[in-house]
Amino acid sequence: MRRKIVAGNWKMNLLPNEAEQLFNSLVSNKNWPTDVEIVVFPPAIYLSRFVDYKDSKIQLGVQNFFPKENGAYTGELSIAQIKACGAKYALVGHSERRAIFGEHNEFLKEKVDAAMEHSVTPVFCCGEPLVIRESNREKEFVKSQLEEGIFHLSAEQIEKIIIAYEPVWAIGTGKTASVDQAEDMHKSIREWIADRYNSEIADNISILYGGSCSPENAQVLFACPNVDGGLIGGASLKADSFTKIIESI
Ligand code: PEP
Repeated sequence: MRRKIVAGNWKMNLLPNEAEQLFNSLVSNKNWPTDVEIVVFPPAIYLSRFVDYKDSKIQLGVQNFFPKENGAYTGELSIAQIKACGAKYALVGHSERRAIFGEHNEFLKEKVDAAMEHSVTPVFCCGEPLVIRESNREKEFVKSQLEEGIFHLSAEQIEKIIIAYEPVWAIGTGKTASVDQAEDMHKSIREWIADRYNSEIADNISILYGGSCSPENAQVLFACPNVDGGLIGGASLKADSFTKIIESI
């Protein structure tokens, strides 16, 4: 069944005491809406501090990992290691990893496979840069990200994945996709999944919107029939704004 999910990507922000304070205020909230899953992606170094709260409503995810089992990969973390520290979700294909760290679709496919193998849920991010949107090629661009990153999965596997549509021009810019732009892309993503797999699978996959989502715009975006929640960057760094976004669903 399609789930409603709101996830917070903390990126490389917050010192330990700040992260702890934010996490504590989220776990101590006893009034979360029951029908929404909440996930936070803290810097990986903090995961083991939060793992004791694994029975709380707040689930843990990791922002990054290296898709090998173990070995001479200085500085990297394996999916088994981050899973052992409490992460149940992993971001794959975030535009910052693609643009700054050169992660290309072939490598992202490996990451998706590694996460699936360890039963960690990939949150697969896709989305077009501004120049692609301005030349009206956003559909073919996003479709090829999906084809190259996740459409090799079996039907049984793809059902376990979460997709986040994050237009690059909306991330951290304060410029949000309009309701029409978001709904139009989410609907297309669902249609491509139906074409590749079937409509039941397409209906069951949660597709989140990301890109300058805020307490002011979350409600209208989440009201779109094909938007099942959000991946939130900046506004997830404050308990107050993240809570308001979650309550908008
Ligand atoms: C993100 O980085 O995934 C994101 C959506 O960031 P922001 O909400 O700050 O645009």
